[in-house]
Amino acid sequence: MKQKIRVLIGKPGLDGHDRGALIIAQALRDAGMEVVYTGLRQTPAQIVHAAIQEDVDFIGLSCLSGAHNELFPEIVRLLKEQQAEDIIVFGGGVIPQEDIPFLKEQGIREIFTPGTPTQAAIDYIRQQARPKQENWLEPPKKIAHIGIAVHSIDQALPFYTEHLGLRLEGREKVESEQVEVAFLRIGESRIELLEALAPQSSIATFIEKRGQGIHHIALEVDDIVERMNTLHEHGIRLLQEQPKIGAHEAQIAFIHPREAHGVLVELCQPKDSGVAKNDE
Ligand code: ZN
Repeated sequence: MKQKIRVLIGKPGLDGHDRGALIIAQALRDAGMEVVYTGLRQTPAQIVHAAIQEDVDFIGLSCLSGAHNELFPEIVRLLKEQQAEDIIVFGGGVIPQEDIPFLKEQGIREIFTPGTPTQAAIDYIRQQARPKQENWLEPPKKIAHIGIAVHSIDQALPFYTEHLGLRLEGREKVESEQVEVAFLRIGESRIELLEALAPQSSIATFIEKRGQGIHHIALEVDDIVERMNTLHEHGIRLLQEQPKIGAHEAQIAFIHPREAHGVLVELCQPKDSGVAKNDE
């Protein structure tokens, strides 16, 4: 059941020219979207009210009067106030390049400067709508690390540092897991050596069963709780209900190895990397 994308085109402020707004509204309609146009000289409150009433997915704002730095953020603020911040706001019109970083910081997700082909706006909307429509999450950012179970970090390290020339970033004891870990940086990723600190540690059990070797692959995410919920909804088993704290105070959770055909996959959200839902 795929619904049409709904877009409201709003003209906040006092300028009296809506040719640009009408062109974009028509282009979006031609692209199969439902478009509501508010007409000229709307206040931010009127635009937000109409957007909520019309249950739109997007608000496109056009402003030629130069007041975009006040009007656009005000609309984002009012949406938040009405708990409608899932509506994506983008803007266009006469907007100087140097105002764009400020506007994005204020929560305007995209700015189309004069001369941008309307197709760019259509592509942008379709791309942004996909995650909303399919409950789709960003793919994990990268391989955060590959965990390797070893009998002894001291014995294993020289291979990585001396023979491969990797840099040891640090060692850390993770008491909750009864392991010691050593991190070696490799490009934007890491190798994580894991040594059991106690016989009941899962690393000790792993080595006993399968010998030393690759223990898990950690994928970096910035929305671990949301992602765990989505996996849960998909019927994918996780080894814990809530994220726990791993090395470097990252939030981590493991997916049951059966789900990944024999690979233990860790989700890993580095400390301070969590993004609020509507941030870039
Ligand atoms: Zn790990």
